[in-house]
Amino acid sequence: MSNLENLYREIILDHYRSPRNRGELASPPAHKVEGFNPLCGDEVTIYLDVHDGVLADIKLTGHGCSISQSSSSLMSAAVKGKPLDDVHSTIETFKELMLAHETKVEESEGDSANLRTLGELAALAGVVKFPVRIKCATLAWNTLAQGLQEISN
Ligand code: ZN
Repeated sequence: MSNLENLYREIILDHYRSPRNRGELASPPAHKVEGFNPLCGDEVTIYLDVHDGVLADIKLTGHGCSISQSSSSLMSAAVKGKPLDDVHSTIETFKELMLAHETKVEESEGDSANLRTLGELAALAGVVKFPVRIKCATLAWNTLAQGLQEISN
């Protein structure tokens, strides 16, 4: 295993053992949205507090495999306190990373422009070597996107 893979593994385990932004927000006023990945049994519930175009606060609960839970923790840390424009572009960048790896895992690991943008989120890049786990990694992100969509409607 390379040093980079070791680092990624440590980041994922760290977020699994010590999940960030764990908990609930009163809803309303916060918006509550739930996601489920039937392939693996992963569940996530996200609470979103949006004010003046900023994701002022985010909390989440859930259970499931280490990938789904560490991905939701990493996501919450990446988007909390950010303007919604930034949140949407982070979601897009993450999804592109997952799609890119579906087709060319080895090459994408060398091409690190996206990985730098993503910071710790890049730890999840290795997940896509195991296609069945992609749904685990993207669950929290799809649920977040759905929640933001519901808020804007
Ligand atoms: Zn899973």
